[in-house]
Amino acid sequence: MAERWRAGKARGGERRGGEYLWRLIFPPRCLTCAVLLPAGAEAPLCRSCLSSFIPAGPLCPRCGELLPPAAPCSCIPESAPLRGLFALSWYEGAWRQMLHRFKFRGKRSLARPLGSWLGRLIREETCWEPAFVIPVPLHRRRLRERGYDQAQLLARFAATALGVPLRPLLARIRPTAAQSSLSHHQRQENVRGVFACRRAALPGKRALLVDDIYSTGATMQEAAAVLQKQGLVVFGAVAAFTQRPS
Ligand SMILES: [Zn+2]
Ligand SMILES: [Zn+2]
Repeated sequence: MAERWRAGKARGGERRGGEYLWRLIFPPRCLTCAVLLPAGAEAPLCRSCLSSFIPAGPLCPRCGELLPPAAPCSCIPESAPLRGLFALSWYEGAWRQMLHRFKFRGKRSLARPLGSWLGRLIREETCWEPAFVIPVPLHRRRLRERGYDQAQLLARFAATALGVPLRPLLARIRPTAAQSSLSHHQRQENVRGVFACRRAALPGKRALLVDDIYSTGATMQEAAAVLQKQGLVVFGAVAAFTQRPS
């Protein structure tokens, strides 16, 4: 698996050169405490933060149980739009604070280490092998307020790590109220019909849908349903899953 990762990185001197320059100007730092990382660090976390990091992995998008790579959870019906979900960690503690900085405090530079790590682990720990990556889009009004689309950035770096193209196939066709202020049922209602496909997808292809946080999953399920109608087989990837199952 590590070989495949190296093979992906070695593709094209231009990308390698760009990565080298980037690392020279912005040496990699720990995602959660920002200390400088030693050269060749496996994960974007320092030793101390890594020791308290609680990894997730492939899990059930419905009940949150961690799953073996190729096994769907028994609580997911065959026809469910999201065939699987991969989360880097849980939305709690230092990881939650880091994602808060990424999403609301303008720390867009976190997208590169986060997205690259997400893509690499999906490559190593799942057998999904998506043909391309699709971001869950922001509405243009929200994008204007924030200045960047955090899911789009994550998706971009995940796609590079996976060695596949980024395909922004979805558009958010109306703005929605912030999901965090709503109940589970209201969230489902809030996102109903908000996504449209920009162009015809390629039926039967496997796609990786990327968002930052999976809370109730209403947004990602709605986006996956639109892509499923186009005939795509959809897997999801997020930086954090709301809650560890008790
Ligand atoms: Zn650290
Ligand atoms: Zn389940």
